Amino acid sequence: MPPNTIPTRIALIQERITRAEQRFDREPGSVRLLAVSKKKPAAAIRTAYDAGQRAFGENYAQEATDKIKDLAGIIDIRDAEWHFIGPIQSNKTRLIANHFAWVHSVERLSIAERLSGQRPPDLPPLAVCLQVNVSQESSKSGLCVSTGLEKLSELALAVAELPRLHLRGLMTIPAPSQEFTAQRQPFRVLREALNELNAKGLTLDTLSMGMSDDLEAAIAEGATIVRIGTAIFGARDSAL
Ligand SMILES: *Cc1c(COP(=O)(O)O)cnc(C)c1O
Repeated sequence: MPPNTIPTRIALIQERITRAEQRFDREPGSVRLLAVSKKKPAAAIRTAYDAGQRAFGENYAQEATDKIKDLAGIIDIRDAEWHFIGPIQSNKTRLIANHFAWVHSVERLSIAERLSGQRPPDLPPLAVCLQVNVSQESSKSGLCVSTGLEKLSELALAVAELPRLHLRGLMTIPAPSQEFTAQRQPFRVLREALNELNAKGLTLDTLSMGMSDDLEAAIAEGATIVRIGTAIFGARDSAL
């Protein structure tokens, strides 16, 4: 296999995931790879699909919908799984509700209500994660938990009641850090938040956390979905 191709890079990331599962006593296959294809052409997604990748993450509703429609005639759209992971504008909720299986980036009840109301009846409920800010940086999106979990549990309990959503878990994008122990810390906060919500009667099973530089730390703390873009598809044109 030639180096530096999308299939090779997917295989390398899968190897890292498998090694981390073994090293941290995680069940084999319990961590899924989400290939983040934002700003990448449909042809690159197709190459990844042909290499066996099925879950794709996108950040821009219109761009993603155009690509999903482009690919519909080529790949089995029921088989590919589209995850929305970017900031959600309220005028884009209908596109997201129509074309995606998952949304990782819900941080407000009003957005969740729109997604539930607009989810087409012939599709299964939209899987949802709440985005949490665990780094105490006002610049990072997500619901802040540094002052306690009241706001998060209030939102989680309300979202769990929405008929066309299926609340699955939590997502975070921590501030980058280089050292393994420091990398684990915010992921531990997210895992503990999930455990507390489950202690309140929810049944959440998803931690969307970990990117190319910190996926081992995330898997050590219980990640079930890691989100990898550049390490699979190469650098994007603009710094997004
Ligand atoms: C872009 C993005 C990623 C992937 O980032 P890379 O640096 O390309 O691996 C992961 N998660 C979210 C929420 C993103 O927006």
